[in-house]
Amino acid sequence: MTTTIDAGTIAALDERDPLRGKRDAFVIPDGVIYLDGNSLGPLPKAALRELKLAAEQEWGQGLIRSWNAAGWFDLPTTTGNRLARLIGAEPGEVVCTDTTSINIFKALHAALSLRPGRATIIAEGTGFPTDVYMAEGVVSMRPGARLKLAGIDAPDIEDLLGDDVAVVLVNHVDYRTGVLRDMAQLTERIHAAGAIAVWDLCHSAGTMKVDLDTAGADFAVGCTYKYLNGGPGAPAFVFAARRHHGRFAQPLTGWWGHASPFAFDHAFRPGDGIRPMLCGTQPILSMRALSGALDVWDDIDLEQVRAKSLALTDLFIALVEERCGRFGVTLAAPRLHAQRGSQVSFRHPNGYAVMQALVERGVIGDFREPDYMRFGFAPLYLRYADVDAAVSILHDILANEIWRAPRFAARATVT
Ligand SMILES: *Cc1c(COP(=O)(O)O)cnc(C)c1O
Repeated sequence: MTTTIDAGTIAALDERDPLRGKRDAFVIPDGVIYLDGNSLGPLPKAALRELKLAAEQEWGQGLIRSWNAAGWFDLPTTTGNRLARLIGAEPGEVVCTDTTSINIFKALHAALSLRPGRATIIAEGTGFPTDVYMAEGVVSMRPGARLKLAGIDAPDIEDLLGDDVAVVLVNHVDYRTGVLRDMAQLTERIHAAGAIAVWDLCHSAGTMKVDLDTAGADFAVGCTYKYLNGGPGAPAFVFAARRHHGRFAQPLTGWWGHASPFAFDHAFRPGDGIRPMLCGTQPILSMRALSGALDVWDDIDLEQVRAKSLALTDLFIALVEERCGRFGVTLAAPRLHAQRGSQVSFRHPNGYAVMQALVERGVIGDFREPDYMRFGFAPLYLRYADVDAAVSILHDILANEIWRAPRFAARATVT
């Protein structure tokens, strides 16, 4: 890329940005360019407002009455129904609950329950490790079940599909490389092999129009603390297509999934629809922060979000290659829009130290082994000018070898 993008072009991009007003919905600290919304989204002002209300009024004053009066008991379904539009699902197909890891466990068991004659689970060996760990845990509980990993047992998922495959757990966007999968096409192939498709949307929800129902997805899981900005440890979500309601089962049969929780029945009877995906009492304060975070999305056009995400990542790639290419950074994200999520990774042999130096200068991204510097581009609060400024700082750190300072070499627990 040899184009030189000048300050005037960048200012014009910000002026024309239909989402520019949304930045004000967030608390963004002064001096910070936040390129880590793919790990932990920033604080929405509405989430802060809801947290305060939930703690002071609903808990402080309402006490136990708030389970009914403030709608606490219904939060998994009310938040799930609001989130449904963002992932191309219908109300009634999604609940917000538990963690992504736990939801993977439930979704895999639910899928196995729909394919009783089959014993193989396929997952991605290079995907986010918890997905594989959870799949291993499911296999350990089911005699005869086995796990096959794409990227390890065979190059691709398609190579592993066969008569014995019950379920395929697949990432919509890879957490490390940012590669986006074609959901409709892969779901069709999984179905053609007679298997169930479980999609992990951790890195796509909130960055594009996900179309679970159109793609024919069976189950899906995902985070709300990344691009959806629900807060650290915010409840995750799980989707089950309506055609599977009343048919799937999962072993975490807690009272919240019961048809009539307050009957205190001794026998478990699964609730209707998506309800059997619920297990027990949820962290209500986190749920209330999430409902504030979802307010920000109510009037958002996801086509605009995707268009800006691609424009931001295009700009970042062009500027890094133009200004920093000679310092040993190499692109590890797809150039093709159809294959790109909303993050861009660049590899550098000293990626960890370079990232630490960036963070010290207020450009917050993160690092993934062995040498990936990850930069997430959340269209609701990032400006094109932020991308330009971040690349200037990266250039300074590389050109002047600022990253060589010993303080940037020490590894923290969370990278
Ligand atoms: C972030 C992420 C998770 C996190 O799981 P938790 O249970 O919330 O810790 C799982 N899978 C993928 C693909 C992720 O990106």
